[in-house]
Amino acid sequence: MKKLINEVAHVVPDMLAGLAALHPQLALLQGQNIVLRADAREAASRGEVALISGGGAGHEPAHGGYVGAGMLSAAVAGEVFTSPSTDAVLEAIRAVAGRAGVLLIVKNYTGDRLNFGLAAEIARAEGIAVEMVVVADDVALSANGDHAGRRGLAGTVLVHKIAGAAASGGAPLAEVAQAARDAAAALGTMGVALTPCTVPAAGKPGFTLGEAEIEWGLGIHGEAGVERGTLVPAADVAARLLKQIAGDLALQAGERVALLVNNLGGTPASELDIVAGSALAQLAQQNIKVERAWAGTFLSALEMAGISLTLLRVDERRLALLDAATQAPAWPAGDGRIAAGTQSVHAAAAAPVTPTPQDGARMSADAPLRRVIEAVCARLQQAEALLTDMDQKVGDGDLGISMARAAQGIREDMAGWPSEQQPAAVLRAMSATVRRVVGGTSGPLYAILLMRAAASLEEQRRANAPAWAAAFSEAVKGVMELGGAKTGDRTMVDALLPAAQALQASLDAGETAAVALDAAVSAAEQGAAATAAMTPRRGRSSYIGQRALGHPDPGAHAVGLWLASVCDALKA
Ligand code: ADP
Ligand code: MG
Repeated sequence: MKKLINEVAHVVPDMLAGLAALHPQLALLQGQNIVLRADAREAASRGEVALISGGGAGHEPAHGGYVGAGMLSAAVAGEVFTSPSTDAVLEAIRAVAGRAGVLLIVKNYTGDRLNFGLAAEIARAEGIAVEMVVVADDVALSANGDHAGRRGLAGTVLVHKIAGAAASGGAPLAEVAQAARDAAAALGTMGVALTPCTVPAAGKPGFTLGEAEIEWGLGIHGEAGVERGTLVPAADVAARLLKQIAGDLALQAGERVALLVNNLGGTPASELDIVAGSALAQLAQQNIKVERAWAGTFLSALEMAGISLTLLRVDERRLALLDAATQAPAWPAGDGRIAAGTQSVHAAAAAPVTPTPQDGARMSADAPLRRVIEAVCARLQQAEALLTDMDQKVGDGDLGISMARAAQGIREDMAGWPSEQQPAAVLRAMSATVRRVVGGTSGPLYAILLMRAAASLEEQRRANAPAWAAAFSEAVKGVMELGGAKTGDRTMVDALLPAAQALQASLDAGETAAVALDAAVSAAEQGAAATAAMTPRRGRSSYIGQRALGHPDPGAHAVGLWLASVCDALKA
């Protein structure tokens, strides 16, 4: 078990202390795992109905995060996934109750019902007006099956919001309770889990899921769901959950709802947005009008990866209650209104990325330049897995895909490029393609390499071997200027610069172009190999420092690969 905690026994008090320390509108009831509105007494003496919820911890930000004017007056936390004691609930009731009374909002679990129910009875005997509403929004379970009743899930948070707004609007207890009951009856929730979660005191997950397995219709305590299945695309997950919920609520086309996309704890925000996008599109297609929608972590199951969807039928009155202001820290700041359709804005018009060939001529299929470019592309695509692996050891693992993407883009664009008679224009076009399709560090560095080579060829007004050698040197200079790396910094420069120098020196010594190219390839390969003994000073590898030793730099290795393919293609 790997968790950011101090001590297993202190998880709940430590988390509540942090919550209260962060939010001045919250206070803790001394000696209890109970979060209160700091102004709970004032609110009660103004005649506001007090709202209390709670249950086992592990569902953060529920329920402490929903304490604040406009939502809960107090939240009672038990141990992780364990209902709080009757006395704890009673303490909370006594702490926040005024003459207007108290509404308890309870998720439908046996322990919670018993402890909140008994506390309510004792409080009534003490003369406090108490009502209790049980939320059972889990549509994965049949409504009248052979079980302890449907469970309370993320839809409970919407009940908090609606009842809280009614209470802060001055409604009497019976009315607040009715608003909560009506909302609970108009709710449906169902979830899916991708991973289990680990209760700190247990130290290991409650169940296991295979690599491609998911659990449909699970509870929020790591308890198993109604069915285990194989992972399906997010859109299919949304479709199945919505179908079940809409079917259960008997939702008809034309009806109005609020949608909650809830993170069970360990789902990246990106995946939540993907699911939300699918859900909204599907609801629109079914002509169900989504009046409000939120995506976020509302009621979690520790670090479980997965989501739940909730639909709540709304009318104007319920919408007004959802829209009412609240100071509860976990209620989203956005008002939940969504656009009628996805809006997209046109990008500013840019100059064409590929220069139009002046004479309209395109590269011929058998031009040596084209052969070379195709050979480079083939080699880079072949090397994708190797470069990925090398970059994973010392960087982030994206170099393989970046180089393969460059190759793919070049292959796609090449047919529209100028003729090989204008090699500078071809290099410029290639640079534009690389600039467009490759990001990361190597994208701009290769783009400048090609751009500078093009400029040099243009300036020299010839394209013989010495001209290409000079262009290569200029190109490497460009990489060093933009990237700021020198030799010895453990980057692609450690392969590029020796290669450019060897090419130049060989030609100066009167060698043939073929021999000079061989020399350049050897210099690049040696330079790349030597990086294994260098401590990185540039790029992402520099963060791991000495730990990179023993592994050659992937960018430098890639230079050796593509340069060798240039050589091979020219010889063929
Ligand atoms: P990242 O993922 O870090 O953005 P890439 O995976 O696209 O980068 O490329 C990694 C390679 O880029 C490294 O192996 C190294 O050869 C090269 N590199 C990193 N920083 C520089 C730099 N400042 N100058 C030249 N090359 C660099
Ligand atoms: Mg990388």
